[in-house]
Amino acid sequence: MGRVGLSVAGVWSVGFEMSKRPASDDGLPSKKAPGFWANGLLTAMKDPTLIVKEDSIVVVIKDKYPKAEFHYLVLPKEDIHSLTNVTRANLPLLKHMDKIAQEITRNHEERQFKIGYHAVASMARLHLHVISDDFNSPSLKTKKHWNTFTTDFFVPSAKVLAEVEEHGKFTRISSEVAKKLMDTPLKCNKCSFQSPTIPKLKQHLLTHIMNK
Ligand code: AMP
Ligand code: ZN
Repeated sequence: MGRVGLSVAGVWSVGFEMSKRPASDDGLPSKKAPGFWANGLLTAMKDPTLIVKEDSIVVVIKDKYPKAEFHYLVLPKEDIHSLTNVTRANLPLLKHMDKIAQEITRNHEERQFKIGYHAVASMARLHLHVISDDFNSPSLKTKKHWNTFTTDFFVPSAKVLAEVEEHGKFTRISSEVAKKLMDTPLKCNKCSFQSPTIPKLKQHLLTHIMNK
């Protein structure tokens, strides 16, 4: 599982969820096939069991493999592949996605949320993560999972808005920088605790939940 490297499409396989990928005629997974694992969000955003909010511009779904107690994805209906394809013309959309994300957090007033994009996404269709900062979930299993949400790999929505406003685009990080971020030692997002392993970190995270 899990190729590491940037693809031409601008999404990066960190190989989290899918081990089985549909084969095309040449035996390789077809990236365009509707069933291809990286297109899973395109199907999910039409699944009424996952949709929590929708308007004429965006759909909000529950993340199927949540990495925290509350984890949503805001996706545009417009076919924008990833942050790499965003231009200044998309600013009103990005602002709308941010506004909808903030509205979602208001349903959980007692929680703290992170709202942002993965610097290099693994799934097709631009998507904004709205995730509670407990990171208490069985689907959070690996160092990569942790570091994609707790290092600079996670780019706050406000930062993306500022960058696109200033430069008219979002500049993707290099695969070297991405790899370095994934190799960051496991650090608690709430205190100075460093953990040698994910199970120990997850155990530690519970102390923050219990002490709330
Ligand atoms: P990213 O790494 O930013 O591309 O994140 C993709 C997100 O999509 C992850 O948080 C996954 O848990 C989530 N995900 C993967 N497959 C599906 C699916 N079929 N339906 C809903 N969410 C999914
Ligand atoms: Zn801590």
